[in-house]
Amino acid sequence: MKKLALYVCMALYISLTACEDDYTNEGIFNLSQTEFKDLSHEGEELSIEITAYDGWVATSQVDWCKLSDTEGRGESILRITVSPNIEQDRTGIIELRTQRETRTISISQKALPAGSELHYKLPIVIHVIYDDPSDPRQNPDGKYLQDVIAGVNRAYKGIGENSSNMNLEFVPATTDPQGNLMTEPGIDRVQWVSSTMEMTDVMFSNERKYNHFLWDPNEYVNVLLYTFDTSTDPTMGNVMGVSTFPYSPSSNPMEGTETVPYSHLKLENLKFAYCVSINNIYVTSANYLFPEFGELDAQQLSIQNTLTHELGHYLGLRHVFSESEQLACADTDYCDDTKSYNKTEYEYTLSDLAEQWQNDPSFRTEENFKKAFQRTCCDNSTFEAHNIMDYAYCYSDEFTAEQRMRVRHVLEYSPLIPGPKKGRAANTRVAEGTIDLPVTVMCAPQKAR
Ligand SMILES: [Zn+2]
Repeated sequence: MKKLALYVCMALYISLTACEDDYTNEGIFNLSQTEFKDLSHEGEELSIEITAYDGWVATSQVDWCKLSDTEGRGESILRITVSPNIEQDRTGIIELRTQRETRTISISQKALPAGSELHYKLPIVIHVIYDDPSDPRQNPDGKYLQDVIAGVNRAYKGIGENSSNMNLEFVPATTDPQGNLMTEPGIDRVQWVSSTMEMTDVMFSNERKYNHFLWDPNEYVNVLLYTFDTSTDPTMGNVMGVSTFPYSPSSNPMEGTETVPYSHLKLENLKFAYCVSINNIYVTSANYLFPEFGELDAQQLSIQNTLTHELGHYLGLRHVFSESEQLACADTDYCDDTKSYNKTEYEYTLSDLAEQWQNDPSFRTEENFKKAFQRTCCDNSTFEAHNIMDYAYCYSDEFTAEQRMRVRHVLEYSPLIPGPKKGRAANTRVAEGTIDLPVTVMCAPQKAR
């Protein structure tokens, strides 16, 4: 009997404390971890379990720690994305607040070891602009686009025997700007009034007309895929792609780029569409001047080749051939290890070659096809065209060591390029609203004839 009374008492006690727990839940504020020490320079994603029944708000005091949520209630998970660190060792604080109390999470991160280099991962998004979803040229399937990005990455890793490995990667974006998981990584399909737009208007219009297609350039490399309008200028059909050219901050200028007094710019500062444009008429691959040579011939017009080249411009590379109107042999790409040549002269040679090819079946030999890849320098020496920043006909499998150095500078300093930057703390000038920036657009490989 005594035992039973005890059980009754205990049961009563348990139910009372349960009630009391429900009541005091309001004050509970628990974090699974409040300190992360010496994280790797490569960056990572941290996960913190939070219990707070009367709700919390969170703020990050540093821009290198990004929060998945800024508020929550009950039991929730807060994810903190810590960016890679290419400067000094650093410490940052995340503050979490309920109505009653404030907690902090302290994060310390090591810098990139001296003498080493970060492998940059640049999220890329291809905005597929179409009006007819069933047209495979306007709205190509995901596998095709994923293969294009994979091919671009092979080229940046260095496929040719003399190519530099650029130590960077274009990673198909996995979340959209609102933080939603993308159904197709790296692909944003946009049904629009037309898949055709005037390329020069898209690239040069300074009225924010096309900026709605873009995602924050600090987080994504934006590629627009659409048909270049030929109604006012039929030669636009020969243009395969174009790209904006990066800026360098005045604190760390690089020759051959426009200098701006900012080390950080935002999407809302831009009046024009800072992006790569690719002409979708080349999605359905076609042979070019020497159809008997199949793949290597068709490769000259492929979207993969064009995108690889345009992203070179996006990251600060100029064409290897002379771009000077006065000097046919000038070296205008700021890289001494790329050979320059007279492109106009080459085009005459190519067009003669193509004509002979068409008219004389006995001329269609591999030896004659290979002549299309020959360039003649101004000192009359010859070389085979391999550089990705050249035009057709080219093997397009090579970046040089000096090109690599230019790209590295852009990755480490240029505003509007994803990834960690150096020298931002020393250059905090912030651009307010839209600002006038010089618009520099690099031309595409153009189909001859
Ligand atoms: Zn180009």
